[in-house]
Amino acid sequence: MELFLKALKFAADKHKNQKRKNFAGTPYINHLIDVADLISEKGGVNDEIILTAAVLHDTIEDTDTTAEELTLLFGGKICHIVLEMSDDKTLDKKVRKQKQVEDSRHKSYEARVIKIADKISNVKDVLYNPPALWTTSRRRDYLFWAREVVNSIRGTNAGLEAEFDALFSKLDEIG
Ligand code: ZN
Repeated sequence: MELFLKALKFAADKHKNQKRKNFAGTPYINHLIDVADLISEKGGVNDEIILTAAVLHDTIEDTDTTAEELTLLFGGKICHIVLEMSDDKTLDKKVRKQKQVEDSRHKSYEARVIKIADKISNVKDVLYNPPALWTTSRRRDYLFWAREVVNSIRGTNAGLEAEFDALFSKLDEIG
């Protein structure tokens, strides 16, 4: 619990100036709490290492956080999981998305659990609280891409996969 709360505080601080791309501009930390909550509630996973890595999963990709910093504060295992969750931002966005489809199955169990919960959280937003400028077709494309990623790691956690599928089935509500 101690490690988890420390991570929550750390992530809230690192992401403090970031908002989600949705119209309401939801604070970024809400996404991180949502991912951890999904893992616990829908995935039935309450392992502190996974939940802690879940709230930290975007710190390297989206803030100035370094691997050294995470290792020092949270240990090598959590740092490794966060690195597994981090896209290489020097690559083109299209390449990064394709890499997620191809590489996710080679990742650790911990990273795969977080990956599915991350996709659920994002898909929920794209369905019900989408980025202001996204067209219907962009939203549909996102859902199909997210499903490709989840399909590539099926068998990781039945509860999370069922939750993802239930959301994906709402696709036609977009129009
Ligand atoms: Zn995320």
